[in-house]
Amino acid sequence: MLNIGCHLSVAKGFTAMGRDGLAIGASTCQFFTRNPRGGRAKEIDQADLARFLELAAEHRLGPLLAHAPYTLNPCSADPKTRNFALETMRDDLARMKMLPGNLYNFHPGSHVGQGTEIGVALIADQLNTVLTPHQTTTVLLETMAGKGSEIGGSFRELRQIIDGVILQEKMGVCLDTCHVHDAGYDIVHDLDGVLAEFDAVIGLERLRAIHLNDSLNPCGSRKDRHARIGEGHLGLAAIVRVINHPLLRHLPFLLETPNELPGYASEITLLREAFGDA
Ligand code: FE
Ligand code: FE
Ligand code: ZN
Repeated sequence: MLNIGCHLSVAKGFTAMGRDGLAIGASTCQFFTRNPRGGRAKEIDQADLARFLELAAEHRLGPLLAHAPYTLNPCSADPKTRNFALETMRDDLARMKMLPGNLYNFHPGSHVGQGTEIGVALIADQLNTVLTPHQTTTVLLETMAGKGSEIGGSFRELRQIIDGVILQEKMGVCLDTCHVHDAGYDIVHDLDGVLAEFDAVIGLERLRAIHLNDSLNPCGSRKDRHARIGEGHLGLAAIVRVINHPLLRHLPFLLETPNELPGYASEITLLREAFGDA
């Protein structure tokens, strides 16, 4: 069965989020650990969390993908900004202990002119400070579109970050279809080639989740503007090939398309119907 879901709001609690997901036919979901612009995380309501964990187990909802605020920049030139990223990630990972065995995804960051090498080293340093041997959360680096001085627009950069991490068994990658396409990986015409490159550079065993998005811009545009499924430069046929690909079809697929719940519900239905039984 296709494991598909979407980004959901956790503002009304985990149980409400779980019910939203189940109501639209999702079997996995993503949420922000806190306000996506950063700031303090809300206290977790333990009764709500317990109800949610029961609901998720009963309906096999998962894995859960927690997304770090996208303003975190572990490779900023400003030590204060770096420290904020560090403390936020440490706190997020501590909270993830309440959702054992799930995934935590973050954008590697922007080196803001310091160069890729320094950027990569700062990101690895942060991971070496926050990762612990006993954590059950796998931390995912997201493939980025490569806009501005963003790190992670190439598979090689993600590989370099992982190479600098001591607890590599805690690390994985989340491939965003809009981002890799915008970064110049032609998953429309050469999905096999892109996956072969991913495997050669990073290793497909590191790939733990897919962000399934269409793109408003052409391949190589380095833009990062998501489109609804079938309404962008990837197109429905290419996206259907992604979910059915023998090397990908077992992964959790998370939609981050510009939609409210009803729009997500129809994309989930559409993609479930397009998923072949292998
Ligand atoms: Fe993201
Ligand atoms: Fe994404
Ligand atoms: Zn994006």
